[in-house]
Amino acid sequence: MYLDIIDKICDEIEKNKEYLTDLDRAIGDGDHGVNLARGTEKIKKELVNMKNLKPYEALNKMAMLLMSNVGGASGALYATALMKGAGALKNKENIGKEEILEAFNEMIKGIEMRGKSTIGEKTMLDTLIPAYDAMKMGTTVKESFKLAKEAAKQGMEKTKDIVATKGRASYLGERSLGHIDPGAMSSYLILKVISEEV
Ligand code: ADP
Ligand code: MG
Repeated sequence: MYLDIIDKICDEIEKNKEYLTDLDRAIGDGDHGVNLARGTEKIKKELVNMKNLKPYEALNKMAMLLMSNVGGASGALYATALMKGAGALKNKENIGKEEILEAFNEMIKGIEMRGKSTIGEKTMLDTLIPAYDAMKMGTTVKESFKLAKEAAKQGMEKTKDIVATKGRASYLGERSLGHIDPGAMSSYLILKVISEEV
């Protein structure tokens, strides 16, 4: 059941709250983990009330919860992604590999639009875009997420070698080098959990 996966994602964010905040302390304002955990805590509490929702309704609900509880750029960006994903799934009878890919693509486009950003700028997109590209090569949902996770990990690690041009880290310019982007890490953790649980 997909709500179980969401539950696990919330646990993973909570577990890595300090780590994500430490990453943000190095190149941002030191709140990424705390920000996200504030949202995932609310989502976890709401999960019991989401059992009868269609998947797209659940995504919209989570978007609302992130929007109103997560401060920071990441809250708005992840919320936008969830709303775009919901839009893609809204009229789908069955959700399989193709539908998931389409939703994922819409999510990324939503982040790019909202963040005026794209790959190579040291953000969550450096995790998500390679993950989406790799996902297309999978034959089953399980395999698709496995490939996505592996590419996500590489993309996340590569943010160390990128000078930030978007988000708070961009204020540091060259000094942002050598650090993993916190949002790239949180996106990787989310994909890791999905790939393990799906
Ligand atoms: P804030 O930067 O407002 O404190 P967070 O610390 O919660 O918000 O989130 C920071 C993360 O958000 C960054 O590590 C980056 O991955 C992501 N981010 C910030 N701005 C953008 C953007 N314009 N496009 C994509 N991702 C972004
Ligand atoms: Mg921050």
